[in-house]
Amino acid sequence: MAIHLARRMARVEPNAIGELLALGADPSIISFGGGYPDPTLFPAEALGQVMAEVIAAPGGQSMQYAPSDGLPELREQVAALMRADGTPCNAADVLILQGSQQGLDFAARMLVDPGDVIVTEDPTFLGGRIAFDPCEPVYAPVPMDDDGMRMDVLEHVLKTRPKVRMIYTIPEFQNPTGVTLSLERRHRLLELANAHDVVVLEDTPYRQIRFTGETLPTLKSLDTEGRVIHLGSFSKVLVPGLRVGWAVAAPALRAKMALLKLANDTQTSTLNMAATSLFLKKHDLDAHVATLRAAYARKKAVMLDAMRRHFPQDVAVTDPEGGLFTWATFRDGFDATAFMRDVALPEARVAYVPGGSFHPVTERANTARFNYSAQSEARIEEGIAALGAALKRHA
Ligand code: PMP
Repeated sequence: MAIHLARRMARVEPNAIGELLALGADPSIISFGGGYPDPTLFPAEALGQVMAEVIAAPGGQSMQYAPSDGLPELREQVAALMRADGTPCNAADVLILQGSQQGLDFAARMLVDPGDVIVTEDPTFLGGRIAFDPCEPVYAPVPMDDDGMRMDVLEHVLKTRPKVRMIYTIPEFQNPTGVTLSLERRHRLLELANAHDVVVLEDTPYRQIRFTGETLPTLKSLDTEGRVIHLGSFSKVLVPGLRVGWAVAAPALRAKMALLKLANDTQTSTLNMAATSLFLKKHDLDAHVATLRAAYARKKAVMLDAMRRHFPQDVAVTDPEGGLFTWATFRDGFDATAFMRDVALPEARVAYVPGGSFHPVTERANTARFNYSAQSEARIEEGIAALGAALKRHA
């Protein structure tokens, strides 16, 4: 049978990296590949209690359908979290999503026709591209340095490329590099977006997980024209399995996204929204986040210290101020994909994500993303030592 697939499906393809990472799921392999939070830090008992409580509530409301926008009390709580973080926000501005991933999909569907341009950081979050690809965009990747996306290159892109519809950025502790967009560049990015009338998609799943340095204002808080769509998530500060995230956007954009939400999945799980809401009411989220920050800061320090001791001198790694990842750049000519397949997995029994797949256009080979949140401190030391020894053996 020859099934005719829609044209957009041509870009909906499995990723070679997925196959390689599947090998890393073997428990005898120390994987720095995933982006998972540490499950030993999940507030399981508290979540179990709030889940039971919302189910037992009279009227069965938590098991009923709910508005597409999300449960009103949760929208109010999210708005309060946004305000406490310095971003003006009312419950009416909030759309509850099934994870922030859903917001990436909605933003592209709302704004991007085939052939339109999406500006991304280079490298960028692979899940962003996976969400955008069915809209058949052309990517304009903008290189980064230690202060995030380079504004001189962004300016050039906006001046020379027609049909730029969206600038996608992860301003804090970016996935995959761990880099944070500086304050000066936040202002400049909005200046440029305003001048060229482009929407900014601000993706902030790691924002709360800051170890050092000052919290910088969200792009949304600096937005004077209602052109920033802000995405937030409970995945990293609570648990990813709840699949609860949110978008904050100007009324016209938010309303369109709510209609996509209705078409897509009617609403986020009422049970999960109700449990999240009750958790926020009964427990101290800030105290929990403080615990996460301390634990991930320690793990990052263990990983970077191990890399300094075990990796060859010519490997450069970023030192993130928060989040879950560091980014390694190996010597010119090094092929991180081949090394993982031929040496890291079979010999050192260690997995990472080769960096090539994070580059939207040119697949650069000599980079890799390392996650430090998922493994214990002892396994981080053990895995980095094994990988370092293998790198030196095969130098
Ligand atoms: N954006 C970025 C940059 C991410 O790293 C992730 C998850 N790894 C997401 C969005 C999606 O997160 P969620 O859907 O769980 O909120």
